[in-house]
Amino acid sequence: MYDPLTNKQLNNQQGFPESYWSSTTSPINYAPLNSDVNANVVIVGAGYTGLSCAIHLAQQGVTNIVVVEANEIGWGCSGRNAGFVLPGSGRLGYKQLVDRFGLAPTHKLHDDFMSAIELVDTLAIKTKANIDKTELGYLKLAHSKNWFEKLKESANYLHQEFNYDVEIISKYDFCHDYVDHKNVFGAIRYNNGFGINPLKLVNSYAEYATSLGVTIYNQSPVNQITKSGQQHSVNTEFGSVLADKLVIATNGYTPKGLNTPIKNKILPVLTNVIVTRPLTADELKRSNFNTHQVMMDTRELKYYYRLLPDNRILFGGRGAISGKDATKPKYANRLLSELKSCFPELSTITIDYNWIGWISVAFDQMPHIHKTDDDIFYATGYCGSGVSFSAYAGKLLSELIQEKDVDSPLISALPSLPFAQFRRTGQRFFYQYGRMKDWLG
Ligand SMILES: Cc1cc2nc3c(=O)[nH]c(=O)nc-3n(C[C@H](O)[C@H](O)[C@H](O)COP(=O)(O)OP(=O)(O)OC[C@H]3O[C@@H](n4cnc5c(N)ncnc54)[C@H](O)[C@@H]3O)c2cc1C
Repeated sequence: MYDPLTNKQLNNQQGFPESYWSSTTSPINYAPLNSDVNANVVIVGAGYTGLSCAIHLAQQGVTNIVVVEANEIGWGCSGRNAGFVLPGSGRLGYKQLVDRFGLAPTHKLHDDFMSAIELVDTLAIKTKANIDKTELGYLKLAHSKNWFEKLKESANYLHQEFNYDVEIISKYDFCHDYVDHKNVFGAIRYNNGFGINPLKLVNSYAEYATSLGVTIYNQSPVNQITKSGQQHSVNTEFGSVLADKLVIATNGYTPKGLNTPIKNKILPVLTNVIVTRPLTADELKRSNFNTHQVMMDTRELKYYYRLLPDNRILFGGRGAISGKDATKPKYANRLLSELKSCFPELSTITIDYNWIGWISVAFDQMPHIHKTDDDIFYATGYCGSGVSFSAYAGKLLSELIQEKDVDSPLISALPSLPFAQFRRTGQRFFYQYGRMKDWLG
């Protein structure tokens, strides 16, 4: 499987992932780039970040915007994620954010996170797209008693400091009202998270962007970026784009050989998703699975899951470390065994879909949106929570490009990764630590 840390180039022969989502819809097809063109803005990568940036530029009257994608739109994370639209990004909790940024900037960040969720709705509504939005609710599940106490504290803190009401749910109420879950010790519920079909969301962004005059090229891997004078040249095998402004929206899929400003500054991490066959009416009853709200546990090495519209369970968690090990059956089997341990009534459940993708993690575990001294713009590092935030990051990128005043604590350069060549060794140590921490509770 393609591995951004070992493959110098991303080729266009990858095929769209055979996910549950691609069984429900196909990505919209656009022609490849096969000539040399000029643009005001060129965006590399047609995931949510790139498409949202294009949409917001076009909405503001910027013309001649070109998006260049190596495979199909949404081929990266955006067309294959779990579809959780979450009130946040990065890996840090609110108290950690306050420690890092201070209270006032964290209030701003909180507003950003809330706006990001609303933006997903707004963009989908603009195209009247049906993105299979679920009922509202993001449930964070305590995997230990200790973590239930921490969740309660954080709910109280969010209420007092941010006027953000998060419901506290006891183990009994959770098992009674949501699903009979054997490994949960209580939960909190954010009332504005929800689930969607991520590929339908990508298509809706692309349709909206093209309706505003944006040009999208599929099947056009960028293999070189150069600058001459004030202009950037983005080169593919059969054509190039010469533009005043360049946006790098390649996130965790950025190939090793592409000379972008995010090179050696992110850790691409594999996350694995399985989708089961549909639950029978009897299984639904016995497991008391009666919610479509999205759920994630409090582990360091998290599991996330949801009941899909046709009553299959989507269950995700960490995958292998390298692309060469990614498709080994043990990773999907581990997810299945964890699923059965949570819901023993589903002991005969089987897997219909299994796929994997690269998320992007920055050294400080937070997203970054930045303009370099060389006039290159990028946004990355959502740490697996980018469905809502990437749309918002695209909007902020568009404002930076138009030289507007943009106020967000996340407008900053990616920090360097110390010993970048050993980042996978560090990841192995982190997984050992995470396993130990999760076992201790
Ligand atoms: C399995 C999985 C589950 C996830 N679940 C969730 C979830 O439930 N909720 C959530 O908030 N987040 C989730 N995420 C993360 C979320 O999907 C991402 O944060 C988000 O989609 C990032 O969007 P993006 O546009 O920045 O990057 P991507 O969608 O990854 O897009 C980058 C694009 O750049 C293209 N590209 C790369 N290099 C080149 C090149 N040289 N030339 C041309 N194009 C290039 C790629 O082909 C790709 O299409 C998940 C991710 C995965 C993999």
